[in-house]
Amino acid sequence: MKYNRILLKLSGEALMGQQQYGIDAERLMQYASEIKAVAATGVQVAVVIGGGNIYRGVEAEAFGLDRVQGDYMGMLATVINSMALQSALEKLDVSTRLLSGLTIQRVCEPYIRRRAVRHLEKGRVVIFGAGIGSPYFTTDSAASLRAIEIEADVVLKGTRVDGIYTADPEKDPTATRYAEITFDEVLSKKLNVMDMTAFTLCKENNLPIIVFDMNTAGNLERLLNGEPMGTLVHDGGKGDGRKHALDPINSLLQPLVGKLPEQA
Ligand code: UDP
Repeated sequence: MKYNRILLKLSGEALMGQQQYGIDAERLMQYASEIKAVAATGVQVAVVIGGGNIYRGVEAEAFGLDRVQGDYMGMLATVINSMALQSALEKLDVSTRLLSGLTIQRVCEPYIRRRAVRHLEKGRVVIFGAGIGSPYFTTDSAASLRAIEIEADVVLKGTRVDGIYTADPEKDPTATRYAEITFDEVLSKKLNVMDMTAFTLCKENNLPIIVFDMNTAGNLERLLNGEPMGTLVHDGGKGDGRKHALDPINSLLQPLVGKLPEQA
């Protein structure tokens, strides 16, 4: 396995399956068994799940309601999905913890980074609910931020499309899929991978993203086994992200901190 610790982002919308709204039990169980399969191989798995199948903050504005209130409603929607996924995983005997960005103490632990890492080290699947706990963000931003905080090796964005295309493949039949692409190319070609806040977090912290089709059974495991699929977004070897900057050997800070003992 190429990765030790992954952050899997699932959209709320994908949970609807063929339905117009809510949670499709079959899709939910499929996701749970895919997660079980990779966790069983020893990969540490953290999950962020969206809430778009239930509520999105922008919908509140369309109704003339308060946006911030709507965003909190959206965050609660992600908690509902997270609880459903937790339950599905437990049905399959997977040990889980649900950590929430909003305090809902009867059903979730509060999000505490060190605790999240400890759970992962113990082999528990960690689900991050309620996004980052603040309005005006998305669960993609939560996925990027939590992945950086827990030092995940990669964000796996499971979608219904099998990667990033030159154009929208659902509209343009000539569109082709990138096997890999750099952060800079995504920006210059104005491709839509994640919202800009989420994407910038990954770019600035040199956190690779893989966009792949999560709805085909077995894909998550195949991807982690190194089968080429989806699109990898990376820094192209530039290594100018923060992770790199904090690496003492190559650090931009090195002139300030001086030579390391092994280099002296
Ligand atoms: N949300 C938020 N802050 C966060 C995460 C989510 O305000 O940190 C709200 C926002 O209103 C968003 C909704 O929760 O529209 C549901 O999340 P999202 O749209 O990201 O779900 P997805 O599109 O992945 O289903």
